[in-house]
Parts: sequence; C-alpha cells; structure tokens
Amino acid sequence: MSEETHLREQICLLAKSMFDRGLTGGSTGNISSRTPDGGLLVSPTGTSFGRLDPGRLSRFDARGRLLDGDRPTKEMPLHAAFYETRSRAGAVVHLHSCHAVALSMMPDVDADNFLPPLTPYGIMKLGKVKLLPFFLPGDPEMGAAVRGLAGKRSAVMLANHGPVVAGKDIEAACNAIEELEDTARLAMMTRGLQPKILNDAAIRGLVDKFDVEWDD
Ligand code: ZN
Repeated sequence: MSEETHLREQICLLAKSMFDRGLTGGSTGNISSRTPDGGLLVSPTGTSFGRLDPGRLSRFDARGRLLDGDRPTKEMPLHAAFYETRSRAGAVVHLHSCHAVALSMMPDVDADNFLPPLTPYGIMKLGKVKLLPFFLPGDPEMGAAVRGLAGKRSAVMLANHGPVVAGKDIEAACNAIEELEDTARLAMMTRGLQPKILNDAAIRGLVDKFDVEWDD
C-alpha cells in the first residue's frame, strides 16, 4: 500500500472513530493532512465524518491547486491559515464538539487561555487555546484571525461553533482535539463546584518539562 493510500484510510478511520463517539454529528467537522509530496488531502464539503470515502478526498498539490476528488470543505481558509503560519503543522482537524461549544458560551471564560488548567494532558497536548469570536461559517475572516496569531497557537476555539487544532500529523491532531473536548467536558462538569485546578508552579513545571508552547 502506498503512503498516500495509507494516509487516506487513516484520515477516514480517525474521522469515523470521532463520529461514532459523538464528537461531531451530521455532516459537521472537517479534517486535512499534508501528503508525503507536500500536497494536501481534505475532507469534501457536505460529507459526514461517519462516512468519508478514502477515494473521494479533495487532493491539492504543494502549490495549493485542487488536483482531484470532491470539492473541499468550505472551512478550507481555516485549514490553510494553520499550514501557512505553522511550518510544523502536518494535519488540521475541526469538530462541532458539544462541551467545547458549551464552554465557549460561558460569560467568564478567558479568551486568551480558553481551557482551565484541570489536567496535565490538556496543557501538554494543546498549549494555550485561543478563543476567537463568532464568525459566519465559511467567512474568510476566520482564516485571517488564525493568521493574526502568527503561528503561536496550535489550537483555537471558534465561539458558539467548535474547536480547530493543528498537529504534527493526523494522529497527533486528533488526539489533541479529543483532549480539548475532554477538558471542556471536565470544565462544564465541575463548573460552580470550586474544582482544585493546577497551580502556577504545576503549569510551569509541565511547560518546562514537556516543552509546551505556552506563548506568555
Ligand atoms: Zn464548523
């Protein structure tokens, strides 16, 4: 099996796994990955994560020209903004995951550091997550907002919409976005219950020991 064929199957398998566990429903969510030749594979517009077809993913060349496959997601500018600003980005995933969206609606969230420091992996896998304002779906301004972060964040949360996470490869991006949703779920579960969060010394220890991009 060629490397690209394997990648196509991996994209569809990971997307279906997230769909099956309720991390994004209907035809929501989109996913993309760099190919071995520097191009890009992207989930097509209007498709469900539960039923992506490896043979119909949109394929771009290294210069961003659509080569074949179905029409790409309309949230393509969002993906492109991560690849353009983060040279290490090998994959980007976007979900409409319930708890992260709920947390984005809470009046007292910190827009510069959206996730509260509840668990070590939330910090290690995501760094600081930036909460971006609400945009109409497909608005190219979403891409502009990600570019405005100058590659300093691997994860953003679109208010009232869903998270977008870049990783070094497709598996890392999926693992990180699952961590984001889990942390948001913990935050909603413990909301108003005065949970003991990680203190500044613990956060600093994690950032130093695991070389986390902390942008402070
Ligand atoms: Zn979306």
